[in-house]
Amino acid sequence: MTYLDNAATTTVHPLILEEYQQIARVYFANPASPHILGQETMALLEKSRKQVLDLLRLPHHRLIFTSGATESNNMFLKGAFLSYKNRGKKIITSEGEHPSVRATLYQLRDYYGAEVVEIPLLPNGKVDKDKFLSAVDNNTIICSLIAVNNESGAINDIEEIAKELKKYPKCLFHVDATQALGKVKINYENVDALTFSMHKIHGLKGSGGLVLRQSITLVPLLSGGKQEYNLRAGTVNFPADYLMPKTIKLAFEAYDKNIERIRENRAKFMSFLQNRDELILNSTMDGSPFIVNFSLKYHKASVVVEALALKGVSVGTSSACSSRLQNDSAVIFAMTHDHHLAANSIRISMMYETTSEDIDTFINVFKEVLSEVKHD
Ligand code: PMP
Repeated sequence: MTYLDNAATTTVHPLILEEYQQIARVYFANPASPHILGQETMALLEKSRKQVLDLLRLPHHRLIFTSGATESNNMFLKGAFLSYKNRGKKIITSEGEHPSVRATLYQLRDYYGAEVVEIPLLPNGKVDKDKFLSAVDNNTIICSLIAVNNESGAINDIEEIAKELKKYPKCLFHVDATQALGKVKINYENVDALTFSMHKIHGLKGSGGLVLRQSITLVPLLSGGKQEYNLRAGTVNFPADYLMPKTIKLAFEAYDKNIERIRENRAKFMSFLQNRDELILNSTMDGSPFIVNFSLKYHKASVVVEALALKGVSVGTSSACSSRLQNDSAVIFAMTHDHHLAANSIRISMMYETTSEDIDTFINVFKEVLSEVKHD
């Protein structure tokens, strides 16, 4: 199988799998327990927390271990809004957010009185930075922005926006860095809250984090015990949390080793796609080198993706739902304002180990499939 759906999830690194077995066997104790094994487990958990913050170059922030990016996004947006809603009700975000941000903000709007402002995307998939910044006012308590879009690969100007937002000390800047960590280098020093997930970088599923500036208080999403600074009740997923720094370190090393080759693969792939009349590229060369998204002009994307799968090539579409409306990708629509293109996008997502041969296989099978599949 040629696997080109790495933005959805990745394989687990063999070293992580191997170490998981050992750690889960030896350190099975609850780190909140008072006995020796509990204390040892807690010491390792805290060491791991510090290592992750150092790797992210946010040594003075706080890390809350979560089950993944969906939980981290929910935890921050709901927790911060409920905590700070007496200061203002406005939340600014973009039209290009992941559903775990978008749906959470709609919930805050519909049930808790948040005023949610979604700033449009430019045709290249980035948020319109000027509009984003000029929407911020004294009533704004949260700005939430995706770092690298999971569908188009567009990279937002996080560093510049974070600097500008320092003029508004009441406004917390949250970044969903799920597709950025280990794949696109960004300095997060001026960011207040950061979301990420291990299964996008060859780590374990059910393992993620929310990094928070120390001074921020959240109303906890999960109430109960006092774990994780009293912000997330429940027994921690120790083996997964323990493996987080190793997963990130392996990802950083793989990035350094492979990024030039990945960029070359992407360039070859983009030049093939640019020359084909039957599609429109949604990704640009200044986006993530790991994601290439395009829309089919005359074919149904779901049919093409299925035909590719039958020939052993796994890629993603934006949505697997059946009705025409549900089939639209909100992100591609925000970029193109075209329902047909939004309903017929295909995403190829690569990883450190993706080879030039994988891209050649895709190109050959894709040509074959387009000649076989009927026009829409
Ligand atoms: N945010 C982004 C940008 C993502 O790509 C994803 C995964 N598709 C998520 C959040 C949710 O991540 P998780 O699967 O860890 O909940």
